[in-house]
Amino acid sequence: MNSIATLGSHCSLQVLKGAKEEGFNTVLVTKSSREKFYRRYDFIDEYIVVEDFQEIMNDDIKDKLSETDSILIPHGTLISEVGIEKIEKLDVPIFGNRHILRWEADRNLKTQLMQKSGVSIPKTFNSPEEIDCLTISKLSGARGGSGYFLAKNSEDYYSYVEKFKKQGLMTDDDELQIQEYIVGVPVYFQYFYSPLKNELELFGIDKRYETNVDGLGRIPSTDQNEIKLSPTYIVIGNFPLVLRESLLVEVYDIGENFVTASRELVPPGMPGPFCMEGVYDSNGKFIAFEFSARIVAGTNIFTTGSPYSYLTHGANMSMGRRIALEIKTGIKNQTLDKLLT
Ligand code: AMP
Repeated sequence: MNSIATLGSHCSLQVLKGAKEEGFNTVLVTKSSREKFYRRYDFIDEYIVVEDFQEIMNDDIKDKLSETDSILIPHGTLISEVGIEKIEKLDVPIFGNRHILRWEADRNLKTQLMQKSGVSIPKTFNSPEEIDCLTISKLSGARGGSGYFLAKNSEDYYSYVEKFKKQGLMTDDDELQIQEYIVGVPVYFQYFYSPLKNELELFGIDKRYETNVDGLGRIPSTDQNEIKLSPTYIVIGNFPLVLRESLLVEVYDIGENFVTASRELVPPGMPGPFCMEGVYDSNGKFIAFEFSARIVAGTNIFTTGSPYSYLTHGANMSMGRRIALEIKTGIKNQTLDKLLT
């Protein structure tokens, strides 16, 4: 029997708990500073202790993962701390399509894939001089929503760039994507696509609690003006959301179109979990500003299942468990090759 392995961060508890529930041996690669924390959980069978997650590229760690016949579940920390280039070369089977992670990280490729899927996306501006509405500028590789700023014209834009450079947040080489800022309700759709059943499942929906943008509304506007606060978008946590049922039809269409587009542009496509992230604007139209091509931490809300996973699977189906169930089915039917890259 294979083991299921992941890095100790992001959604590792949920992933390994789900793997255990489906009968797998579980392996956690943890930094020594967090080993004591993770040893509190009895569903983790084996620990590989490192000082730095980059060590996953070293032969001794790879050997330990091979000895346990591990399948690695990628998540946001693998991308941010190991990096796309190394993930592509990593000699360990990875659940899902490791090549699509580059399309998530590169803003141009990301836009290309979203356009191909046909989902509405915010207008983007090629130069600050073109700005004619409220915009959000995003530093490439910005992590967790830091390094973003709002600008309503080119003067605003350049004054932020100067400020960011002074603060060491950006250099002359950094590229910024300028996007129309959509005012409305931000919503995050969590999906699972099963290549074995050729079926898309809506797994859950969440909202993010971001600092300091979600705190600004607690300060009267007169005070906001005086202290000249700028919003930042660092995710602190997530909370669950259910949509009006009439909106769900489109949510499935958006997910299915994304699966089709990714299959065409980045074979083998989008096996496993992914997330479409956007805003319902003032007309109730969904405009997507991002996707994540792997499990998102917002699924941690639903360790015992979500209102949507309940409809498809009954109780207690977390995204972590769903991944393990797909792998188990793949092993049983000898179709594991459809799930790994
Ligand atoms: P991202 O890193 O692209 O997921 O963005 C981080 C946060 O910035 C999101 O969760 C939203 O709160 C906000 N955001 C990003 N892009 C837009 C946009 N085009 N319009 C409105 N809010 C946005």
